[in-house]
Parts: sequence; C-alpha cells; structure tokens
Amino acid sequence: FSAYQVPEGKKDACAAALTFGQRPKLLSIQDQRKSLPIYKLKKELVQAVHDNQVLVVIGETGSGKTTQVTQYLAEAGYTTSGKIGCTQPRRLAATSVAKRVAEEFGCCLKEEVGYAIRFDDCTGPDTVIKYMTDGMLMREILVDENLSQYSIIMLDEAHERTLHTDILFGLLKRLVRRRPDLRLIITSATLDAEKFSGYFFSCNIFTIPGRTFPVEILYAKQPESDYVDAALITVMQIHLTEPAGDILVFLTGEDEIIHACECLRERMKGLGKNIPELIILPAYSGLPSWMQSRIFDPAPPGKRKVVVATNIAEASVTIDGIYYVIDSGFAKQNVYNPKQGFESLVITPISQASAKQRAGRAGRTGPGKCYRLYTESAFHNEMSPTSIPEIQRINLGLATLNMKAMGINDLLSFDFMDPPSPQALISAMEQLYSLGALDEEGLLTKLGRKMAEFPMEPPLSKMLLASVDLGCSDEILTIVAMIQTEKVFNRCKDKQDQADQKRAKFFQPEGDHLTLLAVYEAWKAKSFSEPWCVENFVNCTSLRRAQDVRKQLLSLMDRYKLDIASAGKNYSKIRKAITAGFFFHAAKKDSQEGYRTLVENQPVYIHPSSALFQRQPDWVIYNELVVTTKAYMREVTVVDPKWLAELAPRFFKLADPTRMSKRKREERIEPLYDRYHEPNSWRLSRRRA
Ligand code: ADP
Ligand code: MG
Repeated sequence: FSAYQVPEGKKDACAAALTFGQRPKLLSIQDQRKSLPIYKLKKELVQAVHDNQVLVVIGETGSGKTTQVTQYLAEAGYTTSGKIGCTQPRRLAATSVAKRVAEEFGCCLKEEVGYAIRFDDCTGPDTVIKYMTDGMLMREILVDENLSQYSIIMLDEAHERTLHTDILFGLLKRLVRRRPDLRLIITSATLDAEKFSGYFFSCNIFTIPGRTFPVEILYAKQPESDYVDAALITVMQIHLTEPAGDILVFLTGEDEIIHACECLRERMKGLGKNIPELIILPAYSGLPSWMQSRIFDPAPPGKRKVVVATNIAEASVTIDGIYYVIDSGFAKQNVYNPKQGFESLVITPISQASAKQRAGRAGRTGPGKCYRLYTESAFHNEMSPTSIPEIQRINLGLATLNMKAMGINDLLSFDFMDPPSPQALISAMEQLYSLGALDEEGLLTKLGRKMAEFPMEPPLSKMLLASVDLGCSDEILTIVAMIQTEKVFNRCKDKQDQADQKRAKFFQPEGDHLTLLAVYEAWKAKSFSEPWCVENFVNCTSLRRAQDVRKQLLSLMDRYKLDIASAGKNYSKIRKAITAGFFFHAAKKDSQEGYRTLVENQPVYIHPSSALFQRQPDWVIYNELVVTTKAYMREVTVVDPKWLAELAPRFFKLADPTRMSKRKREERIEPLYDRYHEPNSWRLSRRRA
C-alpha cells in the first residue's frame, strides 16, 4: 500500500481486524425514526411551521430533515388542505427518499407518498407527500403559477444551490406574498442559514442540534497522480487493517465509478478466500432502481460494505454505518463558458466546504476517519472556501426559456439570491434568439412557447420541433431519447475487442446519431429483448430508459398535436433536424489536425469511440464536448455546410460571394458574430441603462 503506509505495529493487527467487532444492533423502522435527532423536536418543529410562513431549518446531514419533516407535518394535518411538496436537487435522492418514507409511513409508493422526476411520475390521486426534483417543481409552476395544490413546499438541500433551487427561491419568495396560506420551508445542512434567512424576509431559523462524532483527518503525504488507484489502495488497506465499519469513497462520475468497482473486485479476488468479504456498491445518479436500495442495506455480520459514489453521497443521500470516508478531492461539474458558448462536464477540485461535508459522513455512527487523497497544503491553498452556485457557472438557456414562459421578461431585475452575470443572461438570450425561441424584442415566439413545453435543453426541443416540420419526428424522438441516456454501449475490460467489434457493426456512415438510431431499431426488431443486449454489448438498462423517455416525449407530442412522421431512408432530413438544434456545435476539419469549432475556432477532435473516427469528414456537428487531455466531440454527425446558413439564418451567413470562387463560397460559413456586438432593442445592457 503506497498511499498510506500501514504502521509497523499495525501489520499484525491485520489478522486481528479480519475478525470483525460487534456491529450496532439493528433497530426496527419505527425505532430508527425515534432515534433521529429531529424526533425530540417534533412538537417544536410543527409549532414553528405553524407560527412562521417561511422557516429555515438547519441540521446536520442525517438528522432526519428530509424523511421526517414531511411526515410530521402530514401527521399535524397539513395535508387536509393540500399536498406537501419536497424538492431534491438530485433524482436519486428524490426516488430513494420517497421509497424510504413510503415504508416508514406504511404505504406503497404512488399511494400517500410518491415522487416525480423528469420522465418518471410516480404519484397517484392519494399522494399527499410528494418528493420531486427541483426541476419538476419549476415545471409545475409553468402549469400553475400559484401551486394551488400545495399547502407546504419544502425546498430541501438548499445548500446545494442548484440552478433550479436558486430560481425557485425567487419564484417562491414572490408566491408566499400572493398566497398567505402557503408555508415555505428551506432546509440546509450547512451554515448558510443567515444568508437564507436574510433573503427570505429575515425569517426565523430552526436549528436541529447535531449528533456527530469526531472524525480524524488524514492527508496524503504527496499529491496523488492517480486518485482512483490511490482510493482503491486505501479501501483495501482499511478493509485489511481497520476495525468494522463501512467505507464511503467519493469519485467523480459513473464511468469512473464502474471502472473502479471492477478493479476493486478483481484486486479483492487476488487476495484469496481467507479475507472477509467486501461488498462493493456503486452510487451515482443514473443507478438502476433495483441497485439503489442495496446501497442502504446494512452489510451482513462479518462483511464490510464499500460504497463508491459521486458527490451525491455528500449530503443528499445518507448511508448509515459509514466509519471511513475516502475523498478524492474532485467532483464532476457542469461548467459553462459563455464566451466559447459551450458547456462541458469537467472534473474540478471540490471546495473546502465540500471536503468538510464529505469528512462529516464518517462521523455519524461513531468516531470515524477521513482519508483525503490530497495534501494538507492543497486543502488550504488550492481549494476555494465554498462552491460557486450553479447559476453562476452553467448555461442558462433552459432556465431563461422557462422564466420567459412564466412571463418573467426582465431577468436582470429578477430577485436572485446570487444573480448570474449579465453576460451569462445575454448569452442565454442570444442562444434562444438564434434557435428562434425569442424574437427581436426578446419575447417568447410561438416556437419558443412550444419548446418550453418539453423538459429538455433548448437545442434538443428545437431539434424535436424542427423534425416535425421536416417529416422525421419518428426518428428524432428516438435519437433525442438515446442521447439523453448515458452509456449505451458496454465496454467491459476483458472483452474490449469483442465489444468494439459488435459496436462497429451498428456504425452508420452519417455518424453517431444515426448509429444510436440503428441500435434502438435493431433492439426493437428483436422485441426489446434483453439477451440481444447482452450479446451485442449494449446496456439494456440504458435502452429501457431511452424507451421510457421516448414514450413520455411521444405523449407530450400527442398532447400538443405534433405529427409523428418517419423519414424512411431519407437520412438527410434527420441530419437537418439535428443541425436545426445543434448548429452551435458545428466544426470544420482543420488543415493541420483535428477540427475547429465554427463559433470560437477552438481545436477539437472526434472521440475515438465515434462512428466517424476513421472517416474524419469535412463538416460535422457534435452533441457534446468532453474535455480530457484534449476537447473531444461526442456523438458526431456529418453535415452539409449549406444547411447551417439555411437552418440557422440568425446565426450563420454565407460568406460574401463577391470575394471568392463558387466552390469556396459554399464552404465558407461565417458566424454572424457582429450582430451581437451591435446595440439591439432587447439587449439587456441597454435596458438596464
Ligand atoms: P437529512 O435530510 O437530515 O440529511 P434524512 O432524513 O435523509 O436526513 O435521513 C435520516 C435517516 O433516515 C438516515 O440516517 C437513514 O437512517 C434513514 N434513511 C434515509 N434515506 C434512507 C433510505 N433510502 N434507505 C434507508 N434508510 C434511509
Ligand atoms: Mg436531507
């Protein structure tokens, strides 16, 4: 073990550690509820909600805020006049908490307790406690701005400061003035209480006293070059030398976590049979639901559990029995660069606040240990004290579209807790204008209104609506569903070549979007069979999800009477529809190497997994950029440059024809950059002046 040496004296202890100590006794579910710190304050809490229209509730993670407050208020009778809605920043938190609360409440999901996440509504006519993602509540406000079905809204995990939660702050601040009968609870696990209270009319703060044990912090002696490897080594070291207690590892993303779990299993096998079993479980947002509950199951006596998680386990999901935390110091964040006009998932160092929160997870059941895979000096000198709220770092296209659809036109004067930069708002409006969702005045167009009906990023909804006009909505529906599900192709380590060969069979000369369509069609032709997926190294869970998303989108299309038509073999129609939504992501082959984006002339490359990696066509459009050592384009499709000016006339123009030959003329597409630097009637900067 290199990361943390086993102290000499402890080496013999390895053997001792193999015989595990006593585990805490398992409590019944109602006893568990009673053992939570919040239980003693039940009466006071209900009274505080009764006395205060807006209340901030602060308490350590695991104190029972998310699962108990809703139930206490339901018992106190608040569900007779409406529902109790509780928002979660993450899908996995919404579903797993709803499941747990249904169990505690003594009902099935979809009865009194339910959840709603995008493309998955699990509520019924009797549902009175509803967990949902914050994005879903935004959509409900689009339909009913008074949220008249609700008597209480709880904005949970407010410290996460997701984009939607931040916008909901502003919307609900307005709503509580209009609806004196509505109660609003803002809960947070951290010390932002004063700030939240200050924003919400200096409302009262209810504090749940903590119940935490000390956590010993161990830093890496030198910077780690490979934090995944260092994490795995540390897991094994803990397993072999430390007393009983489960382990929680923080890594950054699904792929990395799956890979790490595979490696760990392999290394454990290498240790032979005389070692106590280590139960290895991944935890990330897109985790299939049957695997979700396994994270929470206590490890059987004599075995140890290790959960390898994204920052989902930092605060929104509580796993009991964790004594050891291994913190990589990184998280994947959506980072948007308004100047470059694209958003990408980038592995970034976490903040000190996050690191403290992660460490705290080890001290819930007893004194714990946190292994930081970075140096103490990195913690103090390289990590920022707190995280930047999402609203200040991501693309605001969808948020702007939704707010416009709610009739909020002047975004710059909207009461944000931490406003986004004017530049980010302008850039979002420009994006929407280029897509045709806003007019010259900055008001929502008919197309924009339709786009707002679909719970997807504007380029995706535009692509879908364009496909209706182009007569290829049947195919685009599938493509939209497929690109929103992660990991269609399996590529397990020992059978990589075989997997790659199978994948290549689906490749379409037009590119990856059509390849994804081909996969779906082939699966459909086999009656959506699971063995077919296994045989073809295709991820069945992902395809099922795509099928589900497709169904949901189809019913939305039906509701708005949008035609479903097939393009047949006319693939240009499909490629044109993709262009209509994703023209921002056009790239042209560079004379030296790789490609250059049209928008910022950035060097980019086709991802090696792409169907077009060998072919390297002259003009392409990509779905997303993944930045590792280079910027790679994922899901790439060949386009005709003429389409750019044709389908995005507000964004591209053909270069001045008098200045070049005919062949060149067709190839020279220029972004209409200048127009954005001219004063324009709807420019926010002018309106502000
Ligand atoms: P908070 O919101 O204050 O962080 P929670 O209400 O989420 O706390 O969690 C309280 C307790 O409920 C946890 O300590 C855990 O024991 C239990 N719990 C929460 N979610 C689940 C779940 N999905 N499965 C099993 N137990 C859970
Ligand atoms: Mg919670």
